[in-house]
Amino acid sequence: MGTVLRAAVPDRLLQGWGRTTGSRSQVIGPLEPDALRELIAGRPGRGLLARGAGRSYGDAAQNAGGLVLAPVTPARIELDAAAARVRVSGSTTFAELLEHLVPHGLLLPVLPGTRHVTVGGAVAADVHGKNQRVDGTLFHWLESIELLCGDGELRTLTVDGDGPAFRATVGGMGLTGVILAVTLRLIRIRSSLLRVTVRRCPDLDALMAELESATSRYAVAWIDTTATGRSLGRGVVDLGDHLAAPDPSAEPDGLRYGPTRAPLAPRMPLGLFNPVTARAFNELWYRRAPRERCSLQGLPEFFHRLDAVDRWNLALGPRGFLQYQFAVPLRARHVVADVLESLQRVGAAPFLGTLKRFGPSRGGPLSFPLPGWSLAVDMPPGGPRLAELLHELDRKVANAGGRVYLAKDARLGRVAFDAMYGPLEDWRAARARLDPADTMRSDLGRRLGLCR
Ligand SMILES: Cc1cc2nc3c(=O)[nH]c(=O)nc-3n(C[C@H](O)[C@H](O)[C@H](O)COP(=O)(O)OP(=O)(O)OC[C@H]3O[C@@H](n4cnc5c(N)ncnc54)[C@H](O)[C@@H]3O)c2cc1C
Repeated sequence: MGTVLRAAVPDRLLQGWGRTTGSRSQVIGPLEPDALRELIAGRPGRGLLARGAGRSYGDAAQNAGGLVLAPVTPARIELDAAAARVRVSGSTTFAELLEHLVPHGLLLPVLPGTRHVTVGGAVAADVHGKNQRVDGTLFHWLESIELLCGDGELRTLTVDGDGPAFRATVGGMGLTGVILAVTLRLIRIRSSLLRVTVRRCPDLDALMAELESATSRYAVAWIDTTATGRSLGRGVVDLGDHLAAPDPSAEPDGLRYGPTRAPLAPRMPLGLFNPVTARAFNELWYRRAPRERCSLQGLPEFFHRLDAVDRWNLALGPRGFLQYQFAVPLRARHVVADVLESLQRVGAAPFLGTLKRFGPSRGGPLSFPLPGWSLAVDMPPGGPRLAELLHELDRKVANAGGRVYLAKDARLGRVAFDAMYGPLEDWRAARARLDPADTMRSDLGRRLGLCR
């Protein structure tokens, strides 16, 4: 795609899921690999970036004044059901994959909280699911990545081949090249139902104890971000396992994946949440949860409850919202309570919280999970007091040996980022080899000193 043609492509405003930041770019795609290689070889001013479904919360999938490729490729799925392995193009969504895989008794080994992510975006963020403690992140399940690198070369990366390039790309937020396709290992399932235990916990200690002792494959907790005093950190734990055999009465037609059609969220002129509504919403959520219940749930219900309303981010008002997701080592569990209390103190109106217990992880240098606790809190963007508090919390998280999740971030500063992720010498060396002219760029990358 030559310069003349590119000049005719109008600018578009791109935003992340949280809609607090935005920037304008020329958006093109899908392109055939040869056209893409030509584009990269032309070293576009302000660089190039691949974008997936725009489900990262901040500016990771934006490239102000430059080119953005979206979609990168047409959706393409090549399944080897006997080997439980799939080769899939970068712009295929998890929703498309699930519909294809489940009838074969196969499932993606890692499912983030929404099915509307692309394979490229999931690899670039090295996503985790409710089973991170048992199954690790996507990194563990990737056999190979077909990457059109920033130097225009098409490389097939494996962990045992070019390990540094593989590790720099998984979790590398699109800054090493364009993921054209990947080959993934899958897990086998015998039923499209899970046995789920839901348990209500009156405080943070009880909630953490439930997650700590969980033996199920999947474990996650919704946490009441507004509860105070002795109820601080109360919540509801969800523990899930796949059924070992099909349930003939509940699934007479065999395995299937059929999420119901989600209604589109209304656009709200004002923000939905303030301290009062956030508190009422959380109180209601906690009260309506059973003390303890075992039930069978389908895959969409268990994994992707948030997808029940399409584009729910639009209902949160024109100013959008922030998510603060961090992970700290086990010894620093006090940081979780500290963050909850601090957000309440500045009237931040946190309306949604999720707590996970992470296990060991061998992702790339920019991968997020570490053994310990991860808390994610959604809240309105707030004003200077909240901004100041979040900087203070960044310091606490960094001092505790923790880090903020880049896929959710829209605001982290460079100093705090360096303190959390380190000098990243390996990552920078691998990127310099794959993208010597610094062609792959993003707003997040510029903000954090990862690219020019
Ligand atoms: C409701 C909700 C729940 C979520 N729950 C979880 C969760 O449980 N666990 C979790 O880990 N994450 C979770 N996320 C975050 C989400 O999984 C990541 O942000 C993911 O990267 C989004 O994928 P995407 O296709 O939308 O990518 P985008 O947001 O479009 O892009 C994200 C990054 O990927 C890069 N990228 C995209 N495509 C390519 C490609 N083809 N080649 C190279 N780079 C590429 C972009 O440059 C960018 O840096 C959640 C997000 C939402 C909205």
